[in-house]
Amino acid sequence: MNTHVANKLIDGSTGAWEVVIGLEVHAQVASRAKLFSGASTEFGGLPNAQVSFVDAAFPGMLPVINRFCVEQAVKTGLGLNAKLNLTSVFDRKNYFYPDLPAGYQISQYKQPVVGEGGIDLDLADGEVVHVGIERLHLEQDAGKSLHDQSPDYTYVDLNRAGVALMEIVSRPDMRSSAEAAAFLGKLRAILRYLGTCDGNMEEGSMRADVNVSVRRPGGPLGTRCEIKNVNSMRFVAQAVEYEARRQIDVIENGGAVQQETRLFDSRTGHTRPMRSKEDSPDYRYFPDPDLLPLVLDRAWVDEIARGLPELPDQKKARYVALGLSLYDASVLVAEREAAEYFESMLAHGAEPKAAANWLNNEYFGRLNKAGLTIATGPVSAAANAEIVGMMSANVISGKIAKDVLEVEWVERTGSPKTIVESRGLKQVSDDRAIEAAVDAVIAANPTRVAEVKSKPKAAAWFVGQVMKSTGGKANPQKVNAVLRRRLGLSDEG
Ligand code: ADP
Ligand code: MG
Repeated sequence: MNTHVANKLIDGSTGAWEVVIGLEVHAQVASRAKLFSGASTEFGGLPNAQVSFVDAAFPGMLPVINRFCVEQAVKTGLGLNAKLNLTSVFDRKNYFYPDLPAGYQISQYKQPVVGEGGIDLDLADGEVVHVGIERLHLEQDAGKSLHDQSPDYTYVDLNRAGVALMEIVSRPDMRSSAEAAAFLGKLRAILRYLGTCDGNMEEGSMRADVNVSVRRPGGPLGTRCEIKNVNSMRFVAQAVEYEARRQIDVIENGGAVQQETRLFDSRTGHTRPMRSKEDSPDYRYFPDPDLLPLVLDRAWVDEIARGLPELPDQKKARYVALGLSLYDASVLVAEREAAEYFESMLAHGAEPKAAANWLNNEYFGRLNKAGLTIATGPVSAAANAEIVGMMSANVISGKIAKDVLEVEWVERTGSPKTIVESRGLKQVSDDRAIEAAVDAVIAANPTRVAEVKSKPKAAAWFVGQVMKSTGGKANPQKVNAVLRRRLGLSDEG
């Protein structure tokens, strides 16, 4: 039962509605060769340059299963805490389309390689929602029809034909657009940690069919519509929002939702009909006589299980144990590169909490603003670790740390330690120097001194002045302490 729905209901003119969402995600297996042929899967090749006779369905060609692709599906199943089926079967899914030369797609229907599993979503408010996985099966991708190359003809590019896909089907366990987007994001993170899919949604490596229905809270499931090929988390959220509202309007105006397949238009954020259930093809599935059932060796599966990397949830738990807040830990594990960068900083001696703060509050924000990624960013984990180390050891203040980062960022030369040394940026903790700076500010501002006696909060202004006069180098805690002593204020505040 979902206990989290109450705050996710949608208002209609006749009362509250609950949206129900299930996703079918196609994820391209990170394999250099196709599922049943040795042709390359490289993205962006010349049209039809990566097509074997098998992919082009020449008569008499026999598919041969790619062991590496099977291994990736098994790995993914294990990463989704799913049940593996040691025997699975490839079927022919028959339909006609110009980009499908065989007239059928090889897919798994009744006996998929992976059965039931699940993943946990971390929502923004700290809530964790479990979403069941119904199955994962292996199948071939189709080719691509190109309608914009000629005014008279449609061209067909078979480079994608035969590329291995994992279709991952969720249970209808999601109850908001945010959960649907989070599901796609979490799934992508898990696949990228596992290395079984590159998760590159712009290149089509992951795309989701989004099933949406609405119902009265807790009531029976409504009729669903399936929105095809949505290729970003943001678009998934938009498609759900639009579609739920559309269905509510249909019902509240006395109509009934028709089960149908719809398309999402990313320019308008709307969905529109593609085909109704009545027009949906009868695929006449039957086991592919060219392929034996896929039988996995238990020992092989166990070996793959032993080789699984640490996954986002495990990493998050470990980071929290290192002293990070749940929020900081979630942000760091959401992208594999962020977690790796963070751990590289720890390997260079940075203290975990300080490193996490620095990355989440400073460095990643800077990358974002500059339109850079962790991979293309200019400052190494070693350099950031050095900056954080100097901050933790009170060698530099937080303010100076930002200046040092700026120098590293722009000049890309010299270690942060050398920058601090050569520019004399070390924090001044020497009592006498700080006392002198404090006394100078007090002497120059007699009226303020008089004020501060009645308004102790005004002491902050003095701290600011001293920091300014020392070029940000004075140790702020010490400045505060000396100032309070000199002004005769109590210690706190
Ligand atoms: P089919 O095999 O006809 O495509 P499935 O039962 O496999 O149908 O469901 C496909 C997807 O639709 C799954 O992700 C499932 O969670 C989702 N789904 C099923 N029923 C509903 C519903 N009433 N509302 C929303 N999603 C649904
Ligand atoms: Mg389906």
